[in-house]
Amino acid sequence: MRLTFLGSGGAFSDYRVNYHNNAFIETDEGLVLIDCGTTAVQSLKELGYHPRDVRAVLFTHLHGDHASPEQLMWERFYGPDADGQPGFASTTLCAPSDILDPLRRSLRPFMDIFTDRTGTIREGGVETLVDPLPTMQTELAGLQVRFFRVPHVAGATVDKAAYGIELSDGRNRILWSGDTTLSPDWVNRAATDSSVTRIFHECSFLAPYRGTVHSHWSELSELPDETLARITLMHHTVVPPDVDLSRTVGAAARHELFEL
Ligand SMILES: [Zn+2]
Ligand SMILES: [Zn+2]
Repeated sequence: MRLTFLGSGGAFSDYRVNYHNNAFIETDEGLVLIDCGTTAVQSLKELGYHPRDVRAVLFTHLHGDHASPEQLMWERFYGPDADGQPGFASTTLCAPSDILDPLRRSLRPFMDIFTDRTGTIREGGVETLVDPLPTMQTELAGLQVRFFRVPHVAGATVDKAAYGIELSDGRNRILWSGDTTLSPDWVNRAATDSSVTRIFHECSFLAPYRGTVHSHWSELSELPDETLARITLMHHTVVPPDVDLSRTVGAAARHELFEL
């Protein structure tokens, strides 16, 4: 499995430092993106890819650093194909229904009135440009994809829809935490599962703001050594110079390729 980070930054990243925490896996059918924030297209282009190279986008949750696919979709539709002509390609958007349905509704004011391939201005842009794949579990471009619920912006009475993703290509299985508060149960269980190749887990090094949104390094560092030894940190933007990550596999960097 070849997984490349488009960025490993949080929502408030300075784009000169790091891009949003999005990634892609290379498949025979094209790139499968894990989230698509506002910096995804720029990052793809810096790596020599075009939005048309994307086979599908998986979404973990509805925050701007993860679910802003509008530019990607327009460029796939109107951007030139190999012959220099608009490709008019729709985009496969894949997520559980409680992510995908509101995402499609949110795109409507931006994308519904559009110019179709005949040059006619009409309604129906969202239906034309989106190829929706609402699912908790599917096979996509040779990957087994399973979403699992995680707590992110979770309080006593309300709980934002947010998911981690398990991905397998038949040889390697990875777990991608998405944005989440630390849930040691599934993380420790995954770490003792020999079929799991790597856990990519979000981590914040900012001043602790515990318990409701993200996983802080002060919490992650209390996990057992054997768990940390399976974890690559992400969504951190910058690792402070005085932090020792030697018990982990390290922290992902923008444009870093993981060959698993
Ligand atoms: Zn985020
Ligand atoms: Zn988030």
